Amino acid sequence: MEVCPTEALTETPRFDIDMGIAQIDRTACYPWVNRGICGACVAICPLGNRAIKFKMWNQYQPIVQKDCVGCGLCVEVCPHPSLPIRIVARSEGTVMSHRV
Ligand code: SF4
Ligand code: SF4
Repeated sequence: MEVCPTEALTETPRFDIDMGIAQIDRTACYPWVNRGICGACVAICPLGNRAIKFKMWNQYQPIVQKDCVGCGLCVEVCPHPSLPIRIVARSEGTVMSHRV
């Protein structure tokens, strides 16, 4: 399929894309700390439930899935000032760990 007449853009298979993975800080994200509903990250994701979805039995706490490609759209729309969702290397995992 031709996607750009000058070939400045080329089509790339979904599974060839890996810019990292979204990671969530559950000690800051609004629904994870019971400070209201949000879900902006889930709503904006172009890959849908394969990349990020709500925790089962809870409509608002987001959980990142392994098919996330790290595009960063979810980071752009997060309304929390500390940005509890960010893009990290896949090896760092989808949940931020806190050391004390
Ligand atoms: S980084 Fe992109 S693909 Fe991954 S959850 Fe966020 S919006 Fe979806
Ligand atoms: S957009 Fe930010 S605050 Fe809202 S659910 Fe996602 S990570 Fe949490």
